[in-house]
Amino acid sequence: MKALVDPNKCTACGVCEEVCPASAITLAATMAQVSDDCTLCGMCVDTCEFGAISLPEVGTGPMANLADYRGVWVYAEWREGVLHRVGSELLGAGRKLADKRGVELSAVVLGHCLDGIGEQLLPYGADRVLLVDRPELAHFTDEAYSGALRELVRRERPEILLAGATAIGRSFIPRVAAGLGTGLTADCTELDISAEGLLLQTRPAFGGNVMATIVCPHRRPQMATVRPKVMKPTVDPRGGRIEPVEPPPECLQSRVEVLEVIPERDATARLTEADVIVSGGRGLKKAENFALLEQLAQLMNGAVGASRGAVEEGWIDPSHQVGQTGRTVAPTLYLAVGLSGAIQHVVGMQGSQIIVAVNKDPNAPIFDVASYGVRADLFEFIPAFIRKLKQEQGG
Ligand code: FAD
Repeated sequence: MKALVDPNKCTACGVCEEVCPASAITLAATMAQVSDDCTLCGMCVDTCEFGAISLPEVGTGPMANLADYRGVWVYAEWREGVLHRVGSELLGAGRKLADKRGVELSAVVLGHCLDGIGEQLLPYGADRVLLVDRPELAHFTDEAYSGALRELVRRERPEILLAGATAIGRSFIPRVAAGLGTGLTADCTELDISAEGLLLQTRPAFGGNVMATIVCPHRRPQMATVRPKVMKPTVDPRGGRIEPVEPPPECLQSRVEVLEVIPERDATARLTEADVIVSGGRGLKKAENFALLEQLAQLMNGAVGASRGAVEEGWIDPSHQVGQTGRTVAPTLYLAVGLSGAIQHVVGMQGSQIIVAVNKDPNAPIFDVASYGVRADLFEFIPAFIRKLKQEQGG
């Protein structure tokens, strides 16, 4: 689908071509032409003074009976016996939405051997915890997990369903949304609710250049995923209840059999979970110098992050990038080494408890957000710091 141009109104003035952020509009002899790169953002519609461009009707379809849907749900991720922290973070956000709507907040857990799991979630504001405890859910598979969650949603009809944008959430939540015929906004950074009960789902768009607020007016539930560490958990016990739920076995079928689960050992995957992150930027000068940061991170049992500057130089894999278009992190200690502290970097790490900046430029903006600043040449400071740590650790 793409924007529609009315040949009787278009004057081929070219304004739409200039404003199109997707470069999807070109000018033919007498009128603008829209390519399949169109993202239906509507900027051309807003700027065309001749009213020559319109958007096709999208996303309406048969309207759900909105009044039948009530309550806010949070999918609380459980992995091999352990709850993921994103569940309690989303309960904090869900509590605010539920209070504004005057409805119940429920956490949903899918897994096996869930004894004690409900009790771990209740302090974070849930009115109830729905537990689906089945051997078929002992290991994550897309089909069984999406089948179970879809079935619960069909039975109980929540108006909002939130989930973590984790590897597991990203994998099966879109399948749940598609199965229910509703919309999903991925990687939201902010959630709010309108007076009419529309979930206002804000997320970066167009490479982080604009913040878009997305609504799902016609279908229910309104579904959104949020990255870990974007929201803050709030301790708010409500004396909630725990309800075991039993979906029919046919909803739990999967064509995938999990034979073995091998824990991830790569530090990259630990970036969002790490308590200590040592991040490097262009000040590192070349790829080989990241070995210094790896050595330091290892000594502090931490992970290595990077600025986009360092990633763009090709010195480190993009999976290490912290920031607006990288990962959002909130470790206890964030050591920023030889990076300037551009706003796009800072938005991804400003939730860190202690930020230590090492930079030789006293005017580097990273010092504005740092708890402690070290004005030094990193090639002198970091090796000295490593030596000191080794001494203290008896190495
Ligand atoms: P620079 O800005 O070049 O800073 C290098 C720093 O190293 C300087 O402060 C310098 O004083 C210091 N230095 C140099 N040598 C030494 C030394 N020997 N000892 C100590 N200090 C030294 N950036 C991100 O990081 N993450 C993002 O997610 C991100 N997303 C973006 C999205 C958009 C839409 C845009 C437009 C930009 C984005 N950026 C992002 C890029 C961002 O604007 C900056 O360009 C980038 O962060 C700069 O990287 P840097 O700090 O490593 O490099």
